Amino acid sequence: MRAITQHYIDGAFVESHGREVMQSINPTSKKVIGSVLLGDEEDARRAIAAAKRAFPAYARTTKKERADILRRMHEVVAARIDDLTAAMVEEYGGVSHFSRLIVESGVESFLHAEKALQQMQLVRSWDKTTVTLEPVGVAGLITAWNANTLFICLKLASAIAGGCTVVVKPSELSPLQTQVLLECLHEARLPPGIYNVVTGRGDVVGAELVRNPDVAKISFTGSGAVGEQILRNGAATMKRVTLELGGKSPNILLDDADLDRAIPLALGIAFLNSGQACAAGTRLLVPKSRLDAIRRAIVDAIAAFVVGDPADPKVAVGPMVTETQYERVQSHIRKGIAEGAQVLVGGVGHPPGLELGNFVRPTVFVDVRNDMTIAQEEIFGPVLCVIPYETEEEAIRIANDSKYGLHAFVSGADVERARRVASQIRAGRVVINGMRDDPQAPWGGFKHSGVGREYGTFGIEAFLEPRAILE
Ligand code: NAD
Repeated sequence: MRAITQHYIDGAFVESHGREVMQSINPTSKKVIGSVLLGDEEDARRAIAAAKRAFPAYARTTKKERADILRRMHEVVAARIDDLTAAMVEEYGGVSHFSRLIVESGVESFLHAEKALQQMQLVRSWDKTTVTLEPVGVAGLITAWNANTLFICLKLASAIAGGCTVVVKPSELSPLQTQVLLECLHEARLPPGIYNVVTGRGDVVGAELVRNPDVAKISFTGSGAVGEQILRNGAATMKRVTLELGGKSPNILLDDADLDRAIPLALGIAFLNSGQACAAGTRLLVPKSRLDAIRRAIVDAIAAFVVGDPADPKVAVGPMVTETQYERVQSHIRKGIAEGAQVLVGGVGHPPGLELGNFVRPTVFVDVRNDMTIAQEEIFGPVLCVIPYETEEEAIRIANDSKYGLHAFVSGADVERARRVASQIRAGRVVINGMRDDPQAPWGGFKHSGVGREYGTFGIEAFLEPRAILE
């Protein structure tokens, strides 16, 4: 049981001014495993002031100095991958192998940012004009709970590479994971104030970051509803914003797809991070002509997706992060049934024997129409909608018939054809025949999936502002 009472401001752990206590509850056992004193507006303002003081000197650092800092950050965080993974399993309920992957991606993001920075031309000149890419100012980084270490490291790495100083507002649901990360980063002994971290409520600490005139940029990962508020409330101080929001990613199975490969992959994509993943491929678009074979393949493949204790390496689907999230998934499953979709596997309630934690039954609906609520709204749980199509054109139309456009997947034997289909999908990333990442490729969404991009040079550019000097 850990009691966290401090934030990280100006290079030191300092007592919270905010006095509201929030308990951390393990979603597997429902036991209280820790508590955190939530920060308030005053904590946020202190952190912003520290970042503001540190900004002028840090903004003048060279590429080499920033690269040194990024390598140092990588070194100290890499030293505690096991602890960071264990915290994600315990506090969030992330399954162990996936949690490790997420933590490793977070750790590597410092080196990826360094590589991207080296590729960037921060000064360009022609004739008597010189353009420099200047750090935008103090950045507020607001993150979601479903991959805490990755989001903080990724945003921090890009901002630091861009020469910005930052205030991080992690999800209030991730204080134990954040604490381990802070202990690591503190070991790097970096210049005070370049990064500051205040855990608190979104409508308190997050809102202060969005409102405060000393914060120039908000980089946010979370829900569309909060993203909209940030756009609206940030307008008064002309905030630059990056918004990484939700998704309802289509996964198109072309009629020549090898089902032995494509169906287990489709379930893996849908149940990624126990379904609590923005990129999860939750709409499986299948050729009507192969529907029967696809139903059989799903029933066969589902057995591999064991639900249970996330610390068990055999487990593929862990608990939902909170009871609220559990209830949200249940209500969507009930809605799907009420709207006439057919439950092929899973359904409402806990899996047998797992009544204690926030466990849901991985659920696959068939006979889903794309206009049903379960096909349009982000459920954020292990729920897959199978939607039949007649022609390739119809598959593309259904894929794009969504307010979201974050991610998409295409599977098929004819790669040229799969590429042609991929090029017609309105989404920030389309992956062909697999589930891959490229940390230098842009990450972000079309439409309601967000504004702007993260990762690689695209992610660093989001923290820069061009200035031209003309003689
Ligand atoms: P959320 O919007 O509830 O919270 C996200 C963060 O915003 C938290 O830190 C929260 O405290 C803060 N916040 C809440 N109200 C705020 C306010 N008024 N002002 C400023 N900050 C505020 O989202 P969540 O439930 O934590 O995360 C789930 C959502 O995040 C899903 O929609 C998911 O798709 C999305 N997500 C997107 C990506 C991506 O990369 N596109 C990645 C992960 C999650």
